[in-house]
Amino acid sequence: MLTVNGKADLLSMNIPELEEFLCLLGEPKYRAKQVFSWMHRGVSIDGMTDISKKLREKLSETALVDFPSVEQKLVSKLDGTVKYLFGLHDGNVIESVFMRYKHGNTICISSEVGCPMGCKFCASTIGGLVRRLSPAELLGQVIAAQRDMGERISNIVMMGIGEPLDNFDNTLKFLSLVGDPSGLNIGSRHISLSTCGLVDKIDELARHDLQITLSISLHAADDETRSSIMPVNNKWNIESLLDACRRYFAATGRRISFEYTLIAGKNDSPEYAKRLAHTLKHGLYRSSKPFPIHVNLIPVNEVEESGFSRSSGDAVKKFCEILNSLGVNATVRRKLGGDINASCGQLRRAKLKADSEADE
Ligand code: SAH
Repeated sequence: MLTVNGKADLLSMNIPELEEFLCLLGEPKYRAKQVFSWMHRGVSIDGMTDISKKLREKLSETALVDFPSVEQKLVSKLDGTVKYLFGLHDGNVIESVFMRYKHGNTICISSEVGCPMGCKFCASTIGGLVRRLSPAELLGQVIAAQRDMGERISNIVMMGIGEPLDNFDNTLKFLSLVGDPSGLNIGSRHISLSTCGLVDKIDELARHDLQITLSISLHAADDETRSSIMPVNNKWNIESLLDACRRYFAATGRRISFEYTLIAGKNDSPEYAKRLAHTLKHGLYRSSKPFPIHVNLIPVNEVEESGFSRSSGDAVKKFCEILNSLGVNATVRRKLGGDINASCGQLRRAKLKADSEADE
């Protein structure tokens, strides 16, 4: 059983686990569902008003419902995107971003405090991995943002700080908790998971046959370039990654999406666009019929430490046109929250920097 500050972590539990826990306190089974739906609406033990005061007191002695606290909240004047810096029980901070789309409100959540993967352009990985998030901390971001906004969140993308497949078991547990009809009821079809390409875990995910959308952070079409910006490529190269994508599609029938960050002078020339089209077609369709994919082009968000700069608007447009003309479905990602430092890891990074300067 997971604990927080020595108490049972109720928000990480599913209904059967809650039943077992409450049974030890002499409670009937149906209490579990009550507690579960209160928690998933953002209510802590004190506020569970259809449960006797006595039981609430008893519960509080041995258990807690821990939501992340809003440390900072930035609202974009351009498009209403909201960026949260959430505080965790041990003083660590993570980021989540609330975005409004036509198809519903979407939240981008973090999966770890920091990240072990070392991608050269990414702010989240500077300083490495601090720790992985529990199921409650993954879920808590959705609940806390929904409660704070007072609007239903219908879609989730796991594209914030961290590598979700490096936190595999907790991510799977989170997916089942968030899809529970007694709670938020957000099904797999409304969830995207982005990975830098942990091949063994992609295969494991495929075996669970969930209907989530897999998003692959590719960022380069040849091993030399990819290894120079993504150390994970030294372990699993592009060929092995695209093989895993094929297996994932065969198992789930879900379209796969590829992220390609455009870095000026590094991977953004017309030659690279042609190479990308070739690599995808060759790597994915070699022994199978073409299946639906989509390439998201993202002009790199400049991170001071990386020294990389954004491709020009013209280069981005041209890159996109070439892919489409070669039969690869590609679009340029619309930038939301441009005025609030909304890209991955930058707010946490700014806070850590400010804290360390204050210490000096
Ligand atoms: N670890 C996962 C998910 C987190 S990052 C992954 O690698 O996919 C989410 C996406 O943002 C990834 O595609 C990542 O490569 C990209 N990203 C990270 N830093 C970026 C930056 N500075 N500019 C543009 N995209 C970035």
